[in-house]
Amino acid sequence: MSNTSVSIESVENLLPKELLELLQPFQVDQIKSMISSFLVMNFSVHEYVFEYCPKCGVHHPVLIKAGKANSGKQMYRCKHCNKRFVVDHGQLTYYSHQSEQKWNQLIDDTVAGHSLKTSADHISVCEETAFRMRHKLLYFLEQMSFPLRISETN
Ligand SMILES: [Zn+2]
Repeated sequence: MSNTSVSIESVENLLPKELLELLQPFQVDQIKSMISSFLVMNFSVHEYVFEYCPKCGVHHPVLIKAGKANSGKQMYRCKHCNKRFVVDHGQLTYYSHQSEQKWNQLIDDTVAGHSLKTSADHISVCEETAFRMRHKLLYFLEQMSFPLRISETN
């Protein structure tokens, strides 16, 4: 197995050229959109749970299990603000200071190869915030391996 370090300008560049040639442009768009959705989902599960308290925003909150909500979902209590909240893995907005809409825009911009400044303008955050968001995205992409394998052509 080759050890390739991934430099990402776009998600499309991560896909094997041989595969892209077999797909219609709208199908490539669908794949990119799907990957974006997966990224948002995985960010919310792996990166944002417990990074910030969704109630008071304290960084790396100490959380204790605090029963189940009526919906049956696990609830946690933040020891900092003493408030309870549901951990809902599907909702990025619970764990990030930035809205899901902004994350989606940032991912789209990154995929499209737009500059940080353009991204920052699009989602109305400062460049430093856009940088941190993109860093998290790229870091995640570096950890990601595609299950898809194309046979060697030579
Ligand atoms: Zn709190």
